[in-house]
Amino acid sequence: KRQLVWFRTDLRCEDNTALHHAAQRGPVIGVVFWTPQQWRQHGHGDNKLAFWQRGVEVLSKHLDSLNIPLKIISAEHFDALPAQLLELAQALNCEAVHFNDEYGLNERRRDRQVSEQLHQNDLSVHRYTDQVAFTPGELLTGDGRYYSVFTPFYKSWLKNIGANQLQQFDAPKVQTAPDNVAGDTIPESDTSNAVISADEWPAGEEAAQDRLARFLQKRAHHYENGRDFPAMTATSGLSAWLALGMISWRQCINAAAARNGGHLGDGDSNLQSWISEIIWREFYQHVLVGFPRVNCYQPFQEHTKALVWRDSDEDFQRWCDGNTGYPLVDAAMRQLTTTGWMHNRLRMVTAMFLSKHLLIDWRRGEAFFLQHLVDGELGANNGGWQWAASTGTDASPYFRIFNPTTQSRRFDPEGIFIAEFVPELANVAAKKRHAPDAATCKQTGYPVPMVDHRVARQRALDAFKALS
Ligand code: FAD
Repeated sequence: KRQLVWFRTDLRCEDNTALHHAAQRGPVIGVVFWTPQQWRQHGHGDNKLAFWQRGVEVLSKHLDSLNIPLKIISAEHFDALPAQLLELAQALNCEAVHFNDEYGLNERRRDRQVSEQLHQNDLSVHRYTDQVAFTPGELLTGDGRYYSVFTPFYKSWLKNIGANQLQQFDAPKVQTAPDNVAGDTIPESDTSNAVISADEWPAGEEAAQDRLARFLQKRAHHYENGRDFPAMTATSGLSAWLALGMISWRQCINAAAARNGGHLGDGDSNLQSWISEIIWREFYQHVLVGFPRVNCYQPFQEHTKALVWRDSDEDFQRWCDGNTGYPLVDAAMRQLTTTGWMHNRLRMVTAMFLSKHLLIDWRRGEAFFLQHLVDGELGANNGGWQWAASTGTDASPYFRIFNPTTQSRRFDPEGIFIAEFVPELANVAAKKRHAPDAATCKQTGYPVPMVDHRVARQRALDAFKALS
């Protein structure tokens, strides 16, 4: 009996739990829903959409080589999906629909509606935990709550992880092509504002595996020393592939563990540290489910709702444009808007600059990031922003405010990263690039700092103190 597999943020054939299990039951047909309007409503921009589109093209070809046709259904919003999926499953004479769970609030609501509609019409639904090791709700604190701090979550993850969660699933074997079912042409969505090139961002699982192998061979053993330096290529650069499921967390963790004597939480501290980042990714997925308010523009720390943010469009725009007068912040923002990606250290620095130095609502920054990031993903982005703004899990204390100039001297000591993204300062002596004086600013056309660090810091402290 035919099985319908619905691909979402799991655009791969290898180690795809739903696809593997469906293929055990019968011939498979794939389906993808093309809902650019809904994704835009969720705040994703052209970089992410362009990468998604190319990912579906690659997936479709891969599936075709296995004689699995990929159907495409275009719809504006998630609301249309239950009826359309039912119609497709019935028209194709499928016995069951399979998919890997997603954890955003709207995605969970959509999946509930779809499941109900299919059940009511006697189709079976098979849902799988694939994006994470533990189904949210499985790992809880001693008193039965979702974790709100990473370290105990991490320890519990390591304690409870077993061979069954780490088991990878083969791609299906080439099947006999189902009669009278042809794959659909991939629609074209307008992503003309995308800045990512297909050369630098090759979509699909083969490209992801290449990146993983290169990272593990060449860079992983120096991860701890290099990961905070934006001018170095020291991290895996896999986030966009992970966010769309072109590679699985299991593939990442198992490959890293294989180079670490099978260890996850000990052994080479570089590999251990990289593995822990993949677990951070999972932590934020659990937070989405355990604390639904974070899906709804609400802070995790509820008392911070009362914070009075500054409402300055002009200041916000200067931050967006990379014209704050703080070179590292500006280089980072320009990296984001011109490449569609930003280094992790700089995500922290820029997020803190907006939410603390400018005291502008972190939600505006969160939305701007999502609009530009090729790896934009609700859980990690929201988690990162709320961490920086001291409104989130792990409660970064509000008085710990990065000094952007110190961060610059520490993490871009030669000013190499600044020179790459702030060409005005490329010919200025490296030492001066961290905090150009007024004369240098005048000469180069680079702006003087829009706020004084100490004054801005005090303003943020006062605003947070007013909450208690
Ligand atoms: P590596 O260092 O190689 O890490 C491997 C993988 O672990 C990453 O690809 C990612 O999937 C995961 N990971 C690493 N750090 C984190 C983290 N802090 N939280 C959750 N997962 C993590 N990551 C996203 O994938 N999408 C986002 O939209 C996103 N927004 C962020 C916003 C802010 C304000 C901050 C502070 C962080 C954000 N991150 C986000 C996390 C992190 O910055 C990126 O995952 C990382 O920079 C990607 O580079 P990499 O793949 O080379 O990471």
